[in-house]
Amino acid sequence: MAIVVERKRLSWLERTYLPQIVSGLYITLKNFFKPKVTLEYPDQYTSLPAGYRGAPTLVKDSQGREKCVSCQLCEFVCPSKAIKVVPGEISADSEYAYIEKAPSSFTIDMARCIFCGMCEEACPERAIVLQTEFSLNGLSRSELLRDKRSLYAAGGILPDKIMKWKKVKDNSELEGSH
Ligand code: SF4
Ligand code: SF4
Repeated sequence: MAIVVERKRLSWLERTYLPQIVSGLYITLKNFFKPKVTLEYPDQYTSLPAGYRGAPTLVKDSQGREKCVSCQLCEFVCPSKAIKVVPGEISADSEYAYIEKAPSSFTIDMARCIFCGMCEEACPERAIVLQTEFSLNGLSRSELLRDKRSLYAAGGILPDKIMKWKKVKDNSELEGSH
């Protein structure tokens, strides 16, 4: 059954709208003298909280070697299908030829990335890491497509205990490293 709600009749003062205007101005004035909370970005900038997840990058180890083994787990887990990894072989004459693979190409479409961090969580080598960069822009979608070179340039070095280079793997050494 429908209930008819009776509308309250406005008093003559309310019909002038003056109380509403005055209370609105009061709120404006109250905030006018408070310290400013807005920043004039990008000239002004505030520090990011600990654990902030910005754009994903590729990182190298302390000797400048690629950690990525092109297992494609990050590609499979990415909810927005932003990652494309093309596995490649390590050349037979390399001292690291015993390692299975390395990416021949690795791209992340930053126009699709939602900074969720699933790729970082899935990576067995801690090769893909979300860092603090958050301001990504370009004049076309292709400018937001980051290739391997620019992903490594953005990522830099992240010293870590990884097993990739060892010929004999001992998983107990990895405990506590992630
Ligand atoms: S970044 Fe990590 S998860 Fe992605 S392909 Fe490389 S090793 Fe695998
Ligand atoms: S942060 Fe999320 S959306 Fe971005 S590349 Fe990684 S898994 Fe994909």
